[in-house]
Amino acid sequence: MEINKNVEEDGVIFMSIKDGLSENKENKANDGDVTILAIESSCDETAAAVVRNGREVLSNIISSQIALHTIYGGVVPEIASRKHVEKMNGCIRAALSEADMTLDDIDAVAVTYGPGLVGALLVGVSEAKAISFATGKPLIGVHHIEGHISANFIENKDLEPPFVCLVVSGGHSHLVVVKDYGEYEIIGQTRDDAAGEAFDKVARAIGLGYPGGPKIDKAAKEGNPDAFTFPQAQIPDAEYDFSFSGLKSCVLNYINQAKMQGQELDQKDVAASFQKAVVEVLVSHAIKACKEYGYDKLAIAGGVASNSGLRELMEKECEANKIKFYRPSPVLCTDNAAMIGAAAYYEYQKGVRFGLDMNAVPNLPLGDRERRFHANKN
Ligand code: ADP
Ligand code: MG
Repeated sequence: MEINKNVEEDGVIFMSIKDGLSENKENKANDGDVTILAIESSCDETAAAVVRNGREVLSNIISSQIALHTIYGGVVPEIASRKHVEKMNGCIRAALSEADMTLDDIDAVAVTYGPGLVGALLVGVSEAKAISFATGKPLIGVHHIEGHISANFIENKDLEPPFVCLVVSGGHSHLVVVKDYGEYEIIGQTRDDAAGEAFDKVARAIGLGYPGGPKIDKAAKEGNPDAFTFPQAQIPDAEYDFSFSGLKSCVLNYINQAKMQGQELDQKDVAASFQKAVVEVLVSHAIKACKEYGYDKLAIAGGVASNSGLRELMEKECEANKIKFYRPSPVLCTDNAAMIGAAAYYEYQKGVRFGLDMNAVPNLPLGDRERRFHANKN
């Protein structure tokens, strides 16, 4: 993975991601090309990117606050918002300069307007509106999860809808059919915790700390996945839905019991067995959806999609079932603005334009057409 990294004085990590960058950046834009400046600030990453025609990433800048939140064991919304304000302009400047462009060269500005932390979202939304107002360039609001799904378009130039996508992140677990660009049918979702949330909570309980996903992933590599049999919930009458709270409680009970009996906890075995239980449910639901709905293309998206156990098992099962498997590079699975630029392009092509009345929508549902109300007001 190629990343230029710089830890700033306040602990924020500034990154210029080189993976997935377009190789023909030197080329000047051709007639009909659409170049979008994309902004993301829904959680604890301030990010900006320049994306051409939805699939060519010219720059991808991420300013990660993760170190600031680690001491609190999770994201503190107030700190996140303040840091977004401090870092936003620098990220945008870096994204434009890396792409060798100015605001004059872009055709539109896109931003995540939900779901996410309201204070955090507002920083990106206000910035995008200000740029749109000052330059007269069109404004496009993007759903954060549609962004995660669109991360698959960046490195897989051949991927086109329809396909099935498993979206697993810190706040979401959805199984969706991507019927067309920007058209989603949700066929399954979590009844309680999101997959990433379960990773984070179990990691904290076994003393691995925050952020839990990558730490469990690492510990699991050295543990025995068959050391414990943790439950894999199946929901009657909703075969594509997920539930992770029972699994989480079972792991927590095991940990408490071990403590009471004075037994030593084998972190690695618990991590490996927990990860196996989550991954097997995710994979079996996704493969079943492809077979029953008749799709031979399956993509994964969201922070948990970078889990090595999930990637391995999904690849194996896709191969066995003759399904073509797509996944973004791990760095494009977690929050970034390149994916927002990819999603925005297809909205732009459909003529979607937001007005300056765009607002942050913290609980924006996937596939919501609320954006249509804003269309063509600019
Ligand atoms: P959201 O946008 O919903 O906040 P992200 O897409 O940023 O979520 O993903 C963050 C989540 O992904 C966290 O819950 C984190 O623990 C999880 N995650 C990141 N890397 C891994 C990994 N390698 N294995 C499992 N989970 C992971
Ligand atoms: Mg995310």
